[in-house]
Amino acid sequence: MEFQSIKGFKDILPGESVIWQQLEAETRKKFSTFGFEEIKTPIVERTELFSRGIGQETDIVSKEMYSFEDSKGRGLTLRPEATASVVRAYIQNRLYQAFPVQKLYSIGPMFRHERPQKGRFRQFHQINAELFGDAGPKSDAEMIVLAVFLLQDLPLGPLTLHLNSLGCPECRPAFKKTLQETLADKRDHLCADCAKRLDFNPLRIFDCKLETCREVVFEAPVIVDFLCGECSAHFHRVQAYLEDCEIDYVLNSKLVRGLDYYNKTTFEIQTEHLGAQNAVGGGGRYDGLVKLLGGPDHPAIGFAMGMERIIALMEMNRTAQAGKPDLFIAAIGEEADRASFVWADRLRKSGFRIEVDYGLHGLKSQMKKADRLGAEKVLIAGDDEMKSGKGILRDMTGKEQIEVDLKTIVPALEDILKNG
Ligand code: AMP
Repeated sequence: MEFQSIKGFKDILPGESVIWQQLEAETRKKFSTFGFEEIKTPIVERTELFSRGIGQETDIVSKEMYSFEDSKGRGLTLRPEATASVVRAYIQNRLYQAFPVQKLYSIGPMFRHERPQKGRFRQFHQINAELFGDAGPKSDAEMIVLAVFLLQDLPLGPLTLHLNSLGCPECRPAFKKTLQETLADKRDHLCADCAKRLDFNPLRIFDCKLETCREVVFEAPVIVDFLCGECSAHFHRVQAYLEDCEIDYVLNSKLVRGLDYYNKTTFEIQTEHLGAQNAVGGGGRYDGLVKLLGGPDHPAIGFAMGMERIIALMEMNRTAQAGKPDLFIAAIGEEADRASFVWADRLRKSGFRIEVDYGLHGLKSQMKKADRLGAEKVLIAGDDEMKSGKGILRDMTGKEQIEVDLKTIVPALEDILKNG
């Protein structure tokens, strides 16, 4: 019997993994310029952490979690998102004692029992960032600038930043009530989920993807018209910071996002190239969550980016060089084979990707292999070249050849490979 992977769970194969590494390397580099440090939390947590943190009525908690009991009957869950776990770690380890503002990022798999489709998996990966300990608009703007910065140098095609404010416990209740009153006589036009949302969390109706529900909320009141003075000033300040940094955004008063814990600034980065799953990443402020999960009353803001979606866009735009060798060494004959073993070793230690032939094959077969691997250049060294001390370096794009001195081949190649 041949085993298959489980629906919604997929392998990341060689070839693809190169792009994942590029994305991770780029991410780590950019996070460090903003002073973020990596945190790695366990994949399994107590179920209650998520039900309490994300909200009982959310899709994630009500129908998408991979939950199970361990042998002692404890309810455990594979993490469906990172924030609740990072908040748990922040509280448990008293991270706030070291620095009042903590900036943490993590990269790793999440698990949600959703219906798999293009851009939507049951195990997927997120890049996640959280900033704890500052309530002001500057940290909101900084997180958005960072999110844009992470994506801006990747070949993703056009992206749009959507921005909204969800208000605070002061101003949201009045909006919620007005929304409930406005939609009350349209209950029959809502899907079963949204009919329930109308009672518990009517804002989430804006999040429904069904056309019928979208029509119902099309002309509904919007939260920005209900913001209190503080929320409104905060939101305007965020926008001013973004404008100063020349970050384009669109105000989207229907952007509410799926999780219950957000307040004030919320944002999403969207693409038009991934069909229905158009969110590449998003986040927002969640000032009440640390306290809700048993910690001090510390404000926070975070975001999460979907790595599969970023990589799908990178593959679509195809400029990523999927790990092509800088050099292939075609060595023919035993003497050249042994010498080239050392050349390859030294060049790899200088950071170049070097490929060789493993079977002492003839030149034609080795050239074919170099071509298949997409090598940029090939060094040819056979018995004649070893005798004369002059190898041949062929450029595989232009097909020009030059002679190279084999006695000083390693520094010469380092120079050529570095400078093209
Ligand atoms: P969320 O935690 O739902 O705000 O999601 C943040 C980002 O993670 C989204 O914008 C997506 O890019 C990605 N994402 C969420 N759910 C999935 C999924 N089931 N499959 C793939 N990517 C996902």
